[in-house]
Amino acid sequence: MGGFDSVGTLLADIATLLADALRILGLADKRHWGADEHEQVTALEEAVDEAKMDFQELSPLVNGQSHYEHDRKRRFSLLSPRSPAFLLLSTSVLTPGADESIEELRALRARFYAHVQGLKDWSRSGGPINPIWVRDTHALQKDLHRSQCRAARRIFTSDQESSKRCLGAFLVCRLQRQGLSSRRRNGGAAEGDYQRSQLEELGMCTKIGGFERFGDEDIAFICDFCDGHLVWEDLESVPTSRTSPEATNSPASLLSPTTTNPQWQATGTTLSGLREKPVVFAPLAVANHIAPLHGDWQAGLLCPFCEGEAQQPQDEDDDGEPYHPDNEFDDVAALQEHLEWQHTPTALPVALSAALPSTNNCQIM
Ligand SMILES: [Zn+2]
Ligand SMILES: [Zn+2]
Repeated sequence: MGGFDSVGTLLADIATLLADALRILGLADKRHWGADEHEQVTALEEAVDEAKMDFQELSPLVNGQSHYEHDRKRRFSLLSPRSPAFLLLSTSVLTPGADESIEELRALRARFYAHVQGLKDWSRSGGPINPIWVRDTHALQKDLHRSQCRAARRIFTSDQESSKRCLGAFLVCRLQRQGLSSRRRNGGAAEGDYQRSQLEELGMCTKIGGFERFGDEDIAFICDFCDGHLVWEDLESVPTSRTSPEATNSPASLLSPTTTNPQWQATGTTLSGLREKPVVFAPLAVANHIAPLHGDWQAGLLCPFCEGEAQQPQDEDDDGEPYHPDNEFDDVAALQEHLEWQHTPTALPVALSAALPSTNNCQIM
């Protein structure tokens, strides 16, 4: 393990340690093995598989940005897939946040090292394996996943000056945009298609993080990429679809949730009294979150509809007021209040919604 660490060399070190552990177990005398030993092998294999999959999924995201490709100083390259050093990120330049990623991965490498050392010692001494180690492997796998997500997010953030979105948010946003444009292409949204794409949005949320009970009554989404928390207060469970627009339940209205037809509401149930209440549809909030500032835990939020409006072509007599990037919200409740005041469909004149062009911009749902 050399003196010059980068995100890539550290990930490669960890991959090598995992490969070592598998090699040790592979060479061990298996005649007296029980379920614990086999479970340990499976756990290590899973950790390698997830690390490899994460790397393969995340590296194009930070490499694929057009202006990123011109920066040869920061480049992911994939070595032979059979090589334990399949992970290499040559960050010779310290991007903002790279220090943080390196600190984090160094600590993680030390934990992996100790873990594999334990397995090595066991292989020499023999006897039954310590069944607790499987749990350690699972915990390390989870932490490695989060560290890879965070490292990619930091590179993404430093590279995306125009967007404040967390990389996790970007992934949900991109899926929403794809769903929207495919519904447009099909010339109308079948109800089934719309339901399915909403479930896909939720599925993507659970891929980039997770929902969990928070305190007695709240639900929090916690992002793997930024550790930011989004909190829905007093909620029994996460609604899986948007509330159908009351006025028109036709597929056409589901087709174009533009700035003039914003669909952000879902119907939730309070945990305290089991009453129905409108809440911000979870994937909408997740797709628009901003990584918390250092030391903070709550993720900030952008309003996708204000952002979309700002990107529409401006009228000539417009006073030229650009989009205010300061228009950020501290938490889900603040975003919801804004949405209720500014983007509730019934408050908009019908003529206006017909006059403005629709957009398939990422920021629009
Ligand atoms: Zn995030
Ligand atoms: Zn807004």
